[in-house]
Amino acid sequence: MTNKQTANRTSHISHQDLLIGAHESIAGGIYKAFERAESIGCRTLQIFTKSSNQWHAKPLTDEDIANYKTAASKSNIKHVVAHDSYLINLCAVDPSILKKSREAFLDELDRCEMLGISYLNFHPGAHMKAGEMEGIIKIIESLNWAHEKTKGFQVLSVLETTAGQGSSLGYRFEQLKEIIDGVDEAKRMAVCIDTCHIFAAGYDISTEEGYEKTFKEFDEIVGFEKLAAFHLNDSKKGLGSKVDRHEHIGKGMIGKPGFRFLMQDARFNAVPKILETPKGEDLKEDKMNLAVLRKLGGG
Ligand code: MN
Ligand code: MN
Ligand code: ZN
Repeated sequence: MTNKQTANRTSHISHQDLLIGAHESIAGGIYKAFERAESIGCRTLQIFTKSSNQWHAKPLTDEDIANYKTAASKSNIKHVVAHDSYLINLCAVDPSILKKSREAFLDELDRCEMLGISYLNFHPGAHMKAGEMEGIIKIIESLNWAHEKTKGFQVLSVLETTAGQGSSLGYRFEQLKEIIDGVDEAKRMAVCIDTCHIFAAGYDISTEEGYEKTFKEFDEIVGFEKLAAFHLNDSKKGLGSKVDRHEHIGKGMIGKPGFRFLMQDARFNAVPKILETPKGEDLKEDKMNLAVLRKLGGG
């Protein structure tokens, strides 16, 4: 694509309208994430709806739900994405882990639906040497099982692109497409692109040519209509390294140009963009990264 074509597509939206935000902690109550996000000027937010490294969670109480809904309605945050627990593997080889994973995923869908969260982001799964095809088939079966048990739910099951570390599936757009096409209710499926993960998987968004090629491929294979969100992370490791290590925006191997292309791409103005970059409790790193994104978005 020429510079002129890119320029025609450049977004001209004000800083306040940029749909950027970060993953925030739910310490002290799920609703507390809104305060944290708003304190640093987020317009989007990602949360865990339970502890990310435990199988079981206390069921949500009426009070949890009411507090969440009150905070959500008062808030400036336009989109909330829930990220599922890291323990869940929808193509686990061990039958007891597969069973636990499916039940936990179902619980995640339930929690989102109760809170009114539109997107449940999850990693497709790791096939553990069973083979990629086997893994994809099992992921499809798991999703069909969970969707069957949650008929009519509004929350979408959002496949996150992965770096392809270990035996993780979802490092090629083709794999996401296969899963979506295999699921009975494809309309309940969407995709989240993690910039660090696709770069580590070999999609070079650090150059203009690579950026255009990557998104042309994404649109042809998956389709922009399935794109629910971005995770904006720079990558500590190189292109095609298959290693998933997040870095602050502009300080990694993707670098500022890649994020400038994305922030100025009008096709993605309405798509929530969420940081998952390293940070401490005072959120100063989030503030720094949001400021960098606003600057890059500003032209
Ligand atoms: Mn993730
Ligand atoms: Mn991510
Ligand atoms: Zn990651």
